[in-house]
Formats: sequence, structure tokens, C-alpha cells
Amino acid sequence: MSGGAEDCFAAPGERVTLDAALQLLRERATPCVGTERVPLAAACGRYLAQPVQAQRDVPAFANAAVDGYAFAHASLAAGLELRLLEGRAAAGHPFPGEVPVGSCLRVLTGAPMPAGTDTVAMQEHVRRIGPTIHIPGALAEGANRRLAGEDVAAGSVVLFAGCRLGPAELGVLAELGLADVEVFRPLRVALLSTGDELLEPGAAMRPGGVFDANRFILQGLLARLPTVISDLGIVADDAEAVHAALTAASADHNVVVASGGASRGDEDHVVRAAQSLGRLDFWQIALKPGRPLAIGRLGAATFVGLPGNPVATMVCFLLLARPLLARLAGGTWPEPRRYPVRAGFDLTKQPGRAELLRVRLSAGADGDWVATAVPRQGSGVLTAMIEADGLVELAAERTVVTAGDRLPFLSFAELLAA
Ligand code: AMP
Ligand code: MG
Repeated sequence: MSGGAEDCFAAPGERVTLDAALQLLRERATPCVGTERVPLAAACGRYLAQPVQAQRDVPAFANAAVDGYAFAHASLAAGLELRLLEGRAAAGHPFPGEVPVGSCLRVLTGAPMPAGTDTVAMQEHVRRIGPTIHIPGALAEGANRRLAGEDVAAGSVVLFAGCRLGPAELGVLAELGLADVEVFRPLRVALLSTGDELLEPGAAMRPGGVFDANRFILQGLLARLPTVISDLGIVADDAEAVHAALTAASADHNVVVASGGASRGDEDHVVRAAQSLGRLDFWQIALKPGRPLAIGRLGAATFVGLPGNPVATMVCFLLLARPLLARLAGGTWPEPRRYPVRAGFDLTKQPGRAELLRVRLSAGADGDWVATAVPRQGSGVLTAMIEADGLVELAAERTVVTAGDRLPFLSFAELLAA
């Protein structure tokens, strides 16, 4: 990494490397929302505010894992034939009596293990002749029995603060008998696009007009995080309009996400307005696609100024804004996994900035995944994001890629996970 986080403070206008930008954000970001108790059914996708310690065992009691016959394993010392008792145990219906050594009882999956038993023979594996059940040999003690606390032991911490509540987490909370859970409140995010050329989809086209794609890309990306989004629409390339929009947006939102107007062109007012209203940590990043990317503060709100080109907006959001917002929303910093794949292409590049190529994966002859670069890599070619399975990262200092080189691959399936 060239230049640590300190450099960002020293010269906020300087280009920062992707690593330095990520390190700065990771150090700075702490949860900025309060907490609330919500019913489990409303908690999917939220970040847990407190660790959850199990107050009980799951399962709560030893039970049968299959339909069959429960008995004491010690019975087998006297032979493989057991006397079948009257009655049965089923899920929700424990057997009231005790099963003596030498006897067995009909049990169904999920039934509490009857008193006196420790092993279940599967019904498919036994033979019944009158009142006698023939048990197969070689049945281990405890076979087909689930122990109490086998999944979760009472007293253990099952979920940590900052974990994202998905289907399995909610299932575990439910298994523990919890009806509600303390989570972070959703991030309040203001979203706007800037540019005189921008038109609302559905509006009449005009010469030089461009339909606003970024707000829809960003709504889709933000909706995958626990957010409440205020759509502030399109703001003109006008210093006062941008200033007013950012001022208003920062007043009652945790995060302001803008796209476009972040360069140093005559009509790029976002950086200037943000600088005058707050503090920018950096606003140029040595990354392709994505150079004009601004992150800082507007009063109490975090400001994210994304590049105007739709691909750059999406890539910068996925790599930088997504982990930042996840952390601000109370989550742990999500570090995307970099899977090693083989380059299926040759390439030369300029040193000094990292590049993220849109690639498709295919299975190579030797079992490795091979990354093929999508043909059109322009930062305006949004359809490349549909064609691609993800991104390969070319480090800033790298100048040559030769087919067969190992490259780190970031999967859209993971980056876009809800
Ligand atoms: P800018 O970052 O404002 O200089 O914009 C760079 C390029 O991205 C220009 O071609 C813009 O027209 C385009 N662009 C900016 N904002 C959007 C948007 N919201 N939707 C689609 N294209 C955009
Ligand atoms: Mg613009």
C-alpha cells in the first residue's frame, strides 16, 4: 500500500489508493444509528445490536432422529431380539413410562427419547415377528439419537453483535424461543443524482439528454442493506442548487449518496459544495473505474459522492460504500472474499492505479476457474455488469497480465448479496 491513512488527512485532495481509502474508512466508521427491538418476522437483513447468549439447550431434550424402535444399547449384550412394548413416543407426545433393558418402544422422528433408552434402530433396518423386534448387529450406542444441546448449548454465545440476521440466524433465534430481538435501526439515506443532462425515465427525450440510471442502480444496491431511502431526485449542475440539496439532505439523514459532478470540471459542483459544507476525507481514488470518488462528512451525515459513469458508480459503491454503510448501520465490516482464478487473457496496463475488470468465469481443463474479460470495459458500458460474474483486481503496480496468471476474483453474487 502506498500512503497510509495519515496521508489522507494531510492532503485530502490527493489521490488515494484503494487500500488506503478502505483502511481509512474501516478505521473511521462506527455505527451511527440507535437500536430498537423488533419481532423476528421483521428482523431479516438487520444487524444484531447485542450478542445473543442461549438461555436453553437446542434441542431441549434428547430425541429420536428417525422413525424406529428405541431401546437401551446394553440390551444387545443378551442378543439382538427385543420385546416390543405397548404404546409409542412421537414428536410432542413423550412416552410416560420407562423402557426396561431387553425391551423396545416404537418411536417417531423428533420424539423425546423414552426413559431407559439411548439408541434407536431405524424401522427399515429391523424385522418384526409378532411381539419381537430383531435389531441389526453393529448398531453403535447412541445411534439415531440427537442429544440435548447438540446444536446449541445453554450459556453459549450463538450470535455476535453486528452479525447480519439472515434465514439461519432467525431460525436459531426462534429455536431459542425468542420472539423479538434488539437490532440497529435502519440507516436513513438520502439519494440524489446531479447533472443538467439527466432526465427522469419516462420523461420525453431531448437533445443531449441522458436518462438517470444511477439512482435506480443505487436504490437497488442500498435496498440490500438495512436502509430507509429518501429519493431526492435529480439536481442541476448549479452551485447553489447542489449546495442547497446537500444542506437539506444532510440535516435529517445518516448518509447522503450523490452521483455525478464529483470531478474538477466547470460544472462539477459536488466536491466544492461538500468541501464548503463539511470535510472531505478524499475525493480522488487511484482506481479504474472510479477516479472521482468523494467520501467525507456533511455535518453529522456521512457523504458519499460517486462518479457519474454508471459502471464506476456501481463498482465504487460495491467496493467502498457498501462496507462503509454496512458498518455505519451497525454491521461488522464485510470484507469481500478474493478467490484465486486464472487469467484467460493477456493485458498491459499503466502502473499507478488499480483496475477492476468485468469478467466471466468458466471452468478450466485443470479444474481452475478461468476469468475471461468482458469485451467492452468502458465505464459507461453498464450492460457489461450484466454479462460479468464479477471483477478481477489488478493491483496498482502491476503492468502486465499473461494468460494463466493467478488473479483475485470478487464475485457479484457475494457483493450483491442481500
Ligand atoms: P460526471 O461524473 O458528472 O462528470 O458524469 C460522467 C458521465 O456519467 C457523463 O457522461 C454523465 O452523463 C454520466 N452520468 C452522470 N450521472 C448519471 C446518471 N445518474 N445516470 C446515467 N449517467 C450519468
Ligand atoms: Mg455531470
